[in-house]
Formats: sequence, structure tokens, C-alpha cells
Amino acid sequence: MKTGQINVQTENIFPIIKKFLYSDHEIFLRELVSNAVDASQKLKFFASNGEFKGEVGDLKVEVILNKEEKTLTIRDRGIGMTSDEIDKYINQIAFSGAEEFVQKYKGKEGAEQIIGHFGLGFYSAFMVAEKVQIRTLSREKGAQAVQWESNGSPEYTITDIEKTDRGTDIVLFINEESKEFLEKGRIQGILDKYCKFLPIPVEFGTKTEYVDDPAGEKDENGKVKRVSVDVPNQVNNVEPAWTKAPIDLTNEDYNSFYRELYPTTFESPLFHIHLNVDYPFNLTGILYFPRIKENIEVQRNKINLYSNQVFITDSVEEIVPEFLTLLHGVIDSPDIPLNVSRSYLQSDGNVKKISAHITKKVADKLAEMFKKDRADFESKWGDLQLFVQYGTLSDDKFADKAKSFALVKNTEGAFYSIEEFKEKVATLQTDKNEKVVMLYTNNVEEQFGFVQKAKGRGYEVLELDGPLAPHWIAKMEQSYENISFARVDADTLDKLIQKDEEIPSKLSKEDEEKLKPLFEGAINKDKFTVQFESMSSDDAPIIITQPEFIRRMMEQQKMGGGGFMGAFPDMHNLMVNGNHPKIEAILKEKSKKSKEQKVKQLTDIALLSQGLLKGEELNKFIERSIELV
Ligand code: ADP
Repeated sequence: MKTGQINVQTENIFPIIKKFLYSDHEIFLRELVSNAVDASQKLKFFASNGEFKGEVGDLKVEVILNKEEKTLTIRDRGIGMTSDEIDKYINQIAFSGAEEFVQKYKGKEGAEQIIGHFGLGFYSAFMVAEKVQIRTLSREKGAQAVQWESNGSPEYTITDIEKTDRGTDIVLFINEESKEFLEKGRIQGILDKYCKFLPIPVEFGTKTEYVDDPAGEKDENGKVKRVSVDVPNQVNNVEPAWTKAPIDLTNEDYNSFYRELYPTTFESPLFHIHLNVDYPFNLTGILYFPRIKENIEVQRNKINLYSNQVFITDSVEEIVPEFLTLLHGVIDSPDIPLNVSRSYLQSDGNVKKISAHITKKVADKLAEMFKKDRADFESKWGDLQLFVQYGTLSDDKFADKAKSFALVKNTEGAFYSIEEFKEKVATLQTDKNEKVVMLYTNNVEEQFGFVQKAKGRGYEVLELDGPLAPHWIAKMEQSYENISFARVDADTLDKLIQKDEEIPSKLSKEDEEKLKPLFEGAINKDKFTVQFESMSSDDAPIIITQPEFIRRMMEQQKMGGGGFMGAFPDMHNLMVNGNHPKIEAILKEKSKKSKEQKVKQLTDIALLSQGLLKGEELNKFIERSIELV
């Protein structure tokens, strides 16, 4: 037996590890199981390059719970450690064994898979254990099995022991405060979270399975009886889809892997992107495009970050741009620094490159899908729109690429890119300032009359709705030359698309002055501005509009943008069509009372057509209308 002091710079590193290293104590299991997996993979590697000539055997890792003894053991059949190696890798913790391994095998095939990234991983055991034993037998021929033991103070002992199986047992004597880690369900939960896709089988106890009776005994229906058997409970899939080559995977494989990742989600994803980069950084993964719902928040934060198949976190906001957090799936990169502060992550060069790369890949995939099968892409547009608009608004490089596949849909259901649509409507919808006016509606039902009028003139109307549409429209007006968007109910058509020729008005200035007070008396002056317009005689006698500018400001205010002092007033315009015969008739009317009544009736009809007539005013209108019959 030998005793010694663990070589640490600080007087006692354990309190630091216990308190500050990981905020989440459960992580100790991830660290120890990963070490066991590393040791197993190293053995595989040594066997493949001839350095290890013995029997490799079954390289599984076992997690063994013993409630009576209050121990949790992590057992592997990996390379094991000699007494010297324990001294070097465990006692001199300032020196990482992994680092030496990298130096020695750098550039050799398979080596990068074995390199752990877990710094002080082993010592995280002391977060939950009052005593830790390492019982290990090295792969080296004729090696002596040894046991290292420490109770969490810098003192340790090393003793020779009897152990015939190659590999390492890490035995944790769970402390009083950490009794939760003696519960089967708790351990199973942690393994499911962190170890689900480790590359070496990880077993935890047994589970019951039902199989055909091996003795072939039959039931009363003549069918072979089903019997229950206890089988090892393997917690992981050692070959998750992202580690395979895309050509070896079918669409069904991708979908079933999606279900493996999100067992409670029933919907299948729209499509996927298989990431595979090895220069200038290492990254693999599969990103899935979910069917995006209006409520985007609930779908966020579903990307899982792995490092060499070890689960690290599902909060990847620092690694991918915000709009990409709408995607689901897995990113696996040993190059993302772990266990460091979030602010550091954001400024890390690798992380920035990774983020830019993923954005590019996603844009490229959408462009490729669009090119390959436009009809199919159009059929998915309803689910893609929000994402593409989000990306366009938040990332200029994405916005640039999106120009080739971002679509708009007209009221007939036909899809166009902005460029295509601009070209299509340029002849009719260019105004006197050479701007092509993109007319749109965000609600065909509510703006039906306006849409019909526009179509009647041969104009095309786009359907643009969704929570991001107002911002996206503003962005498009900046990105393309000579286009402007106008909602069909923002003004009269002649005003929305102003041409050189003006329609003469039948009303004189005096006529307008006579009529104006009548209309102002019929509505709430704080909310409506009365204007006279010379429209064509087939336009309605009164049209109520909300100017594009006011509406956009209000929409932005609603979404929390804008930055205005105070609330923006909800103003509408009441536009009187000076060329409508009914208006002429009111002017000629003798009795003041019937003048007022007709103005009121026409105004109410206009309000009604905009859904703006409500409550008492609506009731009065109905009574008055019945009266008129
Ligand atoms: P890291 O894994 O980052 O090097 P750890 O503190 O987790 O840091 O482990 C230190 C070293 O101890 C490892 O690099 C490895 O050489 C050795 N080691 C830990 N666990 C095992 C194990 N189960 N089998 C063999 N060696 C191990």
C-alpha cells in the first residue's frame, strides 16, 4: 500500500469542484460513463492498430446500483490503468491524459473519436460521493490490479488488489445529501438524458421483454406461448443516424430517428439537413425542419448539442442564431468548448464559424429544394414562410440567399418570388414615381370588397399574413429597388397606385365645404378624418381606409417594436367619393333632416363593411334601416 497527496495547486480543490465546477450535480454520471466509453474505445483502437494483442471481448459499460451498500459503480472493460497511470492521470490532475493521447495519435484515423473533452471529469464524482474507489486492471500483459481510494480530501491510498477482468470499476459511496442518486428512476433518467447515443453499449440493470417461448410450448389456440424474460437494459443506441453517411439512410430512417429524439412528438418533420463538416472545425448532425405553428415559442430549444455522442445541453442559443432555434435535431461537435461561461461561448471563434456554417447550410438546402421541385416547395411554403421571414429579418447573409426561394402567394393561390411578381405586375401597377406597387391583403374575408375592386381593375393582390409580415414587408422594401407594399384597404386604388391622369371631381370646393360638417357630424371626429376624393363613379360612395403608415406603426407597436412616445392613435380616413351619384343627390336634397339621415345611413354602411360598426351604433343603424323599409 502507498499513500500520497493528490497534486493540486490549490490547498484543496474538492470544495471548489463540489461547489462551482458544475451547477448540476447529476453531470457526474455523464463524466464517468464517458470516461468508461473512452477507455473502451481506446482499447478498440489499440486492438485495431496491433498495440493490444489480447482478447477484446464484449466492451459494454455497466452502471450498477447497490442500495444496501449505498454504492453506484461504473464498470468498463476498457484499457484500465496501472498504478503509474493512476498516478499520472488521476493524481496529477493538472495534466490531462487525453492531451498526451492526442499528441501521440494525432492525425491517425479514429483517434479524434476517443479524445475526451471533460477536463476534470473524474473528480466530479466527489460532488455526490463521500468516498471513491478506482478498481482497475490494465490491458498490459501481467499487470497488477490496483485500487485507488480517496474520501475527498487530497489524501489517497493505492493498494494492490485481486481483479481478473481487464478494465475499471469506479465505485462511488454516495453521500448523505445525494441519496437521490441511489434511486433507480433517477439514474435511468440521467442515463436517458446524457448517454442515449454513446458509441459503446451502456447497460443499467435488466428489463423484462416478452418473447416466443423458447421451449415452443403452445397455448389453447395452438399459438406459441409468449413468456417474459429478463434482458440487459441497454440505455443507448450506439449508432445514431447522424453518425452514419447520408447515402446509407432513407427518409424513413431520418423520420424514425426524429421519433427517437422526441418520443412525445407525433408529427413528422417537413425535411431534414444532414450536416457533415471536417474543416475548419468538426461538426456532424441532423437538423429537422418542424411544421411551424403560429406559436413559435413552444417549439424552440429542441436542438440537442453533443460532443462525441455525449449529450451536453439543449440550450444552444449561444451557438446557433436565434431564428435557427426553431429547428429541431442534433449537433455534434468536439470543437465547441464545453464547461465554459456563456459569454465566452459567444465570442469564441469556432462557435461563430459553426453558426455561420449552419445558417449557410440551411439556406442552401432551401435553395436546393426550391430548384429541384418547385411545386413541392410551394406546397410546403405555408410551414416555411415564418421561418424564412424570421431568417431574412435576422441574418443578412440568409436574407440574401432567401431572395431566390422566398415566395409570395396571390389571392388565386399562385406563388411568385418577389422578382417574378414585380415583373408580372409592373405594366399595370407601376405608379407615376416608377414604383411597382405590391397590393396585399392580410385577411381576404375582411377586406373582400377592396380585393374585388382591385381585381376588377386587373390588379393582382398578395396574401401576406403571419406575425412577422409587417417587419418582413419593410425589409423587402429596403432590399428591392422600386417596390412598395400597400394593403388594399389603405386608400382608394387611385391613391394607392397613383397615375399621372387625375379623375376630375364633380364637386366644387363650395360643395365640399357644405357637405363636410354633415359627415363630421355622423362619426367620431377623434377617430376619423373626412376627405373628399374624386374616385370613379363605380367606387362606393364612402370608403373607410387606414393609411398604410399608421397601420404599420400600430402593428410594430403591438409587436413591441417602434419605440414611440405614447400610444399611436388608431386613426381612419373616411373618404367621400365626390363622383358618386348618391353624394350628388344628398347635395341637392332640400330638407336638412333627410340630408343628415342619408349621410348617417351611408356612413354606417361604410363602417359596417369594415366591421367598425358596433354596439349602440349598430343597433341604431338596424332600427333606422327597418324604419326605412
Ligand atoms: P479527462 O477525461 O478530460 O482527461 P478525467 O478527470 O475525466 O479527465 O480523467 C482523467 C484521466 O483518467 C483520463 O484521461 C484517463 O486517462 C483516466 N481515466 C479516467 N477514467 C478512466 C477509465 N474508466 N478507464 C481508464 N482510464 C480512465
